[in-house]
Amino acid sequence: MKRIGLIGGMSWESSAEYYKILNEEIKNALGGLNSIECILWSVNFEEIELYQRTNEWEKCGQILNNAAKNLEKAGADVIILCTNTMHKVYDSLLQNINIPFLHVADMTADEIIKEKLNIVGLLGTKYTMSEDFYKSKLVERGIGVIVPDEKEQNIINKIIYNELCKGIIKERSRKEYIRIIDKIIQSGGQGVVLGCTEIGLLIKQKDIPVKIFDTTIIHAKKTVEFALK
Ligand code: GLU
Repeated sequence: MKRIGLIGGMSWESSAEYYKILNEEIKNALGGLNSIECILWSVNFEEIELYQRTNEWEKCGQILNNAAKNLEKAGADVIILCTNTMHKVYDSLLQNINIPFLHVADMTADEIIKEKLNIVGLLGTKYTMSEDFYKSKLVERGIGVIVPDEKEQNIINKIIYNELCKGIIKERSRKEYIRIIDKIIQSGGQGVVLGCTEIGLLIKQKDIPVKIFDTTIIHAKKTVEFALK
């Protein structure tokens, strides 16, 4: 089994999900008392979120590059970044890193293609929905992407940072997400990417009539496949 290096803490609510899914997938694959071999480098999200807000992404890149270097030094065979948004700085993260990195949007695109869908909705932070760094990974693979309008992006974003990243789950917020997803389906979305690692805490497949792509589950499962190859 390869040893997984996780860069987490963004937020720790979703890093805990990664740890759980990685272990469950290893147990499913190997049985017995098998569990994941991993190293978690967890950052202080207060600091990261500040640099996001003040548009100092190069500082985020430095923090994540330092994390990646330490994981490599500590013996990780592969690195994953347990947040969609921070893939914005993945070029900086990977500077002078010599072990593989599994990009969450690549893994998600693989799944969408496997399901033979052409157009999907994308929910995530305002950075993920409004900028190109994430969408382009899907579009390059021939997948059309629908994002909510600006007002709805702000609603989704606020719920991520003010509630989900703090472990707060509200029925009212679930309804808001479902309403926005319904609109995406009306405008042609055949599936919906939960492109933020906390959204799966709020929205489950049973809530939505089309296929959901929970990036936390996809990323963790594909990482285990890679670890066992
Ligand atoms: N975990 C979230 C994501 O997947 C948002 C937190 C962050 O800004 O990293 O995008």
